[in-house]
Amino acid sequence: MTDRSRGDTLASHPTQVKTMTQEQKDFSDLPLNKQLLNALIENGFSKPTPIQSKAIPLVSAGHDLLGIAQTGTGKTAAFVLPLLMKVKYAQGNDPRALILAPTRELAIQIESHAQKLAIYTDLRIASIYGGSGTKLQKEKFEKGVDIIIATPGRFMDFYREQIFITKHIKTLVLDEADRMLTMGFGGQIKKIMEIIPSKRQNLLFSATFPPEVEELSHDFLEFPERVEIAPQATPSAMIEQRTYELPNRRTKINFLQYILEKEEEFSRVLIFCRTKKNASDVHHFIDRKITKASAVIHGNKDQNTRINAVNRFQNGEVQVLVATDVVARGIDIRGVSHVINYDVPHLNEDYVHRIGRTGRADTEGVAITLVMPQEWEKIEEIESVIKQKIPRLDLPSEVNIAPTEKEEAQEIARILDYQKQKRDPSYKGAFHARKEKSGSVPKERKHASKNKSKGRNKRGK
Ligand code: ADP
Ligand code: MG
Repeated sequence: MTDRSRGDTLASHPTQVKTMTQEQKDFSDLPLNKQLLNALIENGFSKPTPIQSKAIPLVSAGHDLLGIAQTGTGKTAAFVLPLLMKVKYAQGNDPRALILAPTRELAIQIESHAQKLAIYTDLRIASIYGGSGTKLQKEKFEKGVDIIIATPGRFMDFYREQIFITKHIKTLVLDEADRMLTMGFGGQIKKIMEIIPSKRQNLLFSATFPPEVEELSHDFLEFPERVEIAPQATPSAMIEQRTYELPNRRTKINFLQYILEKEEEFSRVLIFCRTKKNASDVHHFIDRKITKASAVIHGNKDQNTRINAVNRFQNGEVQVLVATDVVARGIDIRGVSHVINYDVPHLNEDYVHRIGRTGRADTEGVAITLVMPQEWEKIEEIESVIKQKIPRLDLPSEVNIAPTEKEEAQEIARILDYQKQKRDPSYKGAFHARKEKSGSVPKERKHASKNKSKGRNKRGK
């Protein structure tokens, strides 16, 4: 394909990586009109963030753009502002710009961000997303729409139903491209590119730049300008990060109780769990045992329940929000005081996204990760992704350390054993010498595991 070879050539000559200049720009130095400048003032945005300063002139000049900047650095306005300049005023019935986002929460959030910036324009902005009925979303098209924000599946559904025509789309934005690809939207994105005009401006934003995103950028962008603000996957310097080792699940919940009760400055806490079940369990626990109000959002909750939970968290009615990765991804919640990784994330990059919920736009935040003995390996991987060591603190003496139940001890021992064997193939754990049946653990393993977790306990000190 000619597209491919073009991409490959470009890849070896990226159009220069822009670096921060000494002096900070003002929004009035950027190609924005009075309506937008007034909207910015109204929203309390006094200075552009670095990605905004760099991206807005390039996008306004009509370039394709690859924007890489960590979570919470203001990427939304970096593409929304020049897009509003370009689309300018309400015209015709059909959309002229399309923003694709991976989740409904994000689509809704981008819409509300765009609506706020567009208050002094007559632009019609609509978001469409799966997981809720189509009727209300279809109604948005009755009076015409200028800019659509969509999740890929719902966009295709509406296209097939001919709710709108795509031939006027002149700008395509892929937001959170890294997440789109981990969520498996690659194929759908390609289909969408086939049904919208090929002559258009393309913008791709991502917090991280793994090889899959690089490949997508080759297929998708034409002679792009590249704006990279922080080295990839670097958490904001405003976030204080800590880890604690918890010997077992009971102690984890005890520790959570301790920090939520003891520390009153834990005023707006976002807790991440790896599974829906853990998220529900943690939420119920907080409900029963702790005076702070909590809500939970995960994939089993319907759309309205989730929006409601986020709103109550946003307005302070709820101090603790428990979430899973997929659902929380991209949700913009301001002024989070603490992120707690109740479970170490599955994907290393999720660590960056999770802790990016705090320390946003010039405020400080704290990110606390609860680590089980078998999870230090994961933490080391994360540390190599973020290129920094995460300080490890001792558990406060007040935390009630529960004994490890037999089954859990066995499970931990099994994983540590496996990890050790992976690092040292000559190591023959008693475990792997035979085909293990779950639950039946040879006696001598327990000793080995005890010793090993002691060894791990010394880590980092
Ligand atoms: P990203 O997409 O990079 O994760 P967002 O666009 O969601 O970041 O912005 C993060 C937060 O910072 C939002 O609450 C947004 O309203 C705020 N924000 C963005 N730009 C500015 C600015 N120039 N000044 C102040 N706050 C800003
Ligand atoms: Mg974003």
